[in-house]
Amino acid sequence: MFFRLSILIFLSSTISGLAQPLPDCRYDDVPTYHQELSDWQISLLDTIYKLSPTYQPTDLIKVSEAGFGSEKEVRQLMLADLQALNDAARAAGMFLEIQSAFRSYGYQEQTFQSWVNQDGLEAALKSSARAGHSEHQLGTAIDFRSASGPAAWELEDWATTPEGAWLKEHAWQYGFVMSYPKNKEAITCYIYEPWHYRYVGREIAQKLKDSGLSLREWLWQAQ
Ligand SMILES: [Zn+2]
Repeated sequence: MFFRLSILIFLSSTISGLAQPLPDCRYDDVPTYHQELSDWQISLLDTIYKLSPTYQPTDLIKVSEAGFGSEKEVRQLMLADLQALNDAARAAGMFLEIQSAFRSYGYQEQTFQSWVNQDGLEAALKSSARAGHSEHQLGTAIDFRSASGPAAWELEDWATTPEGAWLKEHAWQYGFVMSYPKNKEAITCYIYEPWHYRYVGREIAQKLKDSGLSLREWLWQAQ
């Protein structure tokens, strides 16, 4: 009996997580497994998995609290690291600003629709998330730009500007990861977004850096 149970546990633990291949880039609306506000580090969001429309952090604060000019909002739990990142950037002569941060389900619906109107559905699906699928709904994702520049997506490759390059190099030290890196479109299911960072905390950011995995691959294993 106990033997059978342990076999069962062994089987189910190998079936979930690592043993499964990463799903293809298809479009679906499957509720993501980890939807508690305390699950912010491991909530997997992609073109398949989504948050419910009512998911909304209760601890949002303005990024001006971390020394930015913007009044966009993020979760309070990341404030100290966001401030540390901004301080380090400024000490290195880099002036970052925040283009976008928390976006509610309803706001994301509008955002996605505006990209559809501008670029058509096919292109919008690759550059923007449908409502519920956006990391911005977590309140822990930020679209950065250079303080002196336009929205980063208006540039050829923001990561080649001084601010973008600095962030690419140092973001992990403060717990941030670039969710959609270059040449990983087939894995992340989105175009290269050198401006979009998700806060996962310093420990996981370090593990991710050491693993060489993209955030989606790592989160898939962590489910
Ligand atoms: Zn973004």
